[in-house]
Amino acid sequence: MAHDESASAGPGTRLAGAGRRPEWTGTPDHPGAVVAPPVWRASTHLYPDMAALRAHPANEDGEFYYGRRGAPTQWALADALTRLEPGATGTVLYPSGVAAIAGALLTVLRPGDVLLMTDNAYEPSRVMGRGLLADFGVTTRWFDPADIAGFEAAICDRTRCVLLESPGSLTMEVQDVPALAAIAKSRGIVTVLDNTWASPLGFAALEHGADIAVMSLTKHVSGHSDCMMGSASAGSDWYRRLRLRAQGLGNVVSPDDAALMLRGLRTMHLRLAAETRSAAAIAQWLAARPEVARVLCPMLPGSPGHALWTRDFTGGCGLFSFVLSGGTSQARDALIDALRLFGIGYSWGGFESLATPVDPASIRTASRWPLPGMDEADRFGVRLSIGLEETGDLIADLERGLAAWEAAL
Ligand SMILES: *Cc1c(COP(=O)(O)O)cnc(C)c1O
Repeated sequence: MAHDESASAGPGTRLAGAGRRPEWTGTPDHPGAVVAPPVWRASTHLYPDMAALRAHPANEDGEFYYGRRGAPTQWALADALTRLEPGATGTVLYPSGVAAIAGALLTVLRPGDVLLMTDNAYEPSRVMGRGLLADFGVTTRWFDPADIAGFEAAICDRTRCVLLESPGSLTMEVQDVPALAAIAKSRGIVTVLDNTWASPLGFAALEHGADIAVMSLTKHVSGHSDCMMGSASAGSDWYRRLRLRAQGLGNVVSPDDAALMLRGLRTMHLRLAAETRSAAAIAQWLAARPEVARVLCPMLPGSPGHALWTRDFTGGCGLFSFVLSGGTSQARDALIDALRLFGIGYSWGGFESLATPVDPASIRTASRWPLPGMDEADRFGVRLSIGLEETGDLIADLERGLAAWEAAL
């Protein structure tokens, strides 16, 4: 059976075939016998004889050796993710998205180096800069995600790496990744991009200048809120180094989880398309409400970041935020508590909708909150992860929430 995984095939076609190499889905007598790569539970891999052990190539990709280097289930997932990322020659899997960010940064950085991190980075990435990386002699400095000149001015002789995230966590600023990555490249700086929001279906990270594309598979790839994993994809040079560092750190993912991720991957384009459509409609509805001061959603025409999103992205997702007009933190809690369809919980990208409070002021150090152009009083935000429920039902739920907010003022 032939799978059309060529770059010209549509996303659904590529997702249907990705990672299903016949030798991973069958036996020598019947290659490609089953559709889904089976779960290979294995720590020990056996050699037929001593000659085979002696002849074993040193640390080759996709070769049986020992469980920590994976088996066909994990190889199939890594292979599938590599095929989705134009320009990638390989993908390393990590036990979580945070482990993938740590794995990438610990591959690039050395003691004495400076890391420039976008101010809207996922909070555990910030914690990594202040904690883990500081402990190993790396200095982290933060920059305003929307200020390209400020980014350039922040570069010094010791700057070795930049961590971008676009759209960024909570406030959803879209970064000019091609411009920032080009500046970094001209100064010999490595660009790592946290591409969890868009996935490679929505943003071709390496083609837009990133050297390493990191993703939390926990979100869109799983899509079902039951499994955690992360990935880093890169061209040959960085892929080789990422892989060696991940091996050195002892990173390994379970074949059961890899099989769940492969299952999620097959429908990711449908979920993302549905969530994007629904989120855009809900963002539009929220933008017209008097209780709402600002909707932070790159898919919404007129919102900051929409022009860059239209220029660089081929898709969106269900994650965005909105800011209430004035009010109090207690009224915002009443809003979220009144929602019946939205769960209250961290994470996002699952089939079920979620709502969480947004309070970036205490986290940011290089950019202001409320955002430039916003009123000081408009500071209580809500982040929504739009799932697969009917859009009209979610809007009715939000209407109930806004009524509770009004009543609590
Ligand atoms: C959730 C998230 C991560 C971390 O992923 P985990 O799998 O939860 O460790 C990294 N980056 C972004 C943008 C995220 O939202």
